[in-house]
Amino acid sequence: MSGERIPGIVGLESYGICLIDDGTLNRGRTPTPGVVTQDSYGMCSADDALMCLEVAPAAAGSGIGIIKTNLKPVNAHTRATFVRPAVKEIALTTRIIDQIMPYYPLRCVCIAGYLDSSDQFWKVNYHWDLLVYKIDQFVALKTISEHHRNCAMAIKQALLKNAPDPQTGYRTDKTVGATKDKSDAEQIIKRHATLKQAKVDFESVLTKSKVVNAATKRNPPASEKPWWLAVAPVALPGNSKHGSGYALDISGDNAETTRISKALGATLAFNEASHVHVEWKNAV
Ligand SMILES: [Zn+2]
Repeated sequence: MSGERIPGIVGLESYGICLIDDGTLNRGRTPTPGVVTQDSYGMCSADDALMCLEVAPAAAGSGIGIIKTNLKPVNAHTRATFVRPAVKEIALTTRIIDQIMPYYPLRCVCIAGYLDSSDQFWKVNYHWDLLVYKIDQFVALKTISEHHRNCAMAIKQALLKNAPDPQTGYRTDKTVGATKDKSDAEQIIKRHATLKQAKVDFESVLTKSKVVNAATKRNPPASEKPWWLAVAPVALPGNSKHGSGYALDISGDNAETTRISKALGATLAFNEASHVHVEWKNAV
């Protein structure tokens, strides 16, 4: 079948090659669900997703400040097991974590909390670095077609037109913000737009080439999780609810995280594939 040109987002250049064999690009703002990951920091698309928000009605008096739940605490975690070292907190975040921690099983781990605005800019670079890295891995696969390889390389070329400076380091940073990018804010905002489109397009390439199975997106096998993380959306800097302190990213078991968080009065539980983004807006 004839391919479809990837138009890129408005105002940005096209990739200029034909990407997908059957022309059925998944260009919707589908949330990228269901994965556990090696991601240290998580990321959050809930903030800029336009749909698929699983918003629980905010019942009067709900919120973590006064947990009214039928759930029984399992008391499996200590702070050391529940909260990754790189997670940042403000007082509100700390209070939420302390109150919800007893209810999660060991396999559910908090991978991100508070992010200030410079952290949010860094996160764009983290995902840029990660995506380029995963595209390089994809291109090296022996099982993919030449066509899909070319598609992936075109996406990489689009990304490289607005690279951070230094170009890499963010992906392997041990703490949020460790690698400092010399780009100005406007450049990073533009980079975010390119990245957002690149992720949508690379997801199409991954599914068409059967490197991942779209049917198991919400609960993928471990081998596919790093790919899903690479294409998980990232919030526009300044818009992330992680800047409020009441949002957490919890990885490990998305179904359980969603069920437990809702039972604990979460105002939002958003399956991002690599983790679930959870908010307790009424936490105060
Ligand atoms: Zn998040």
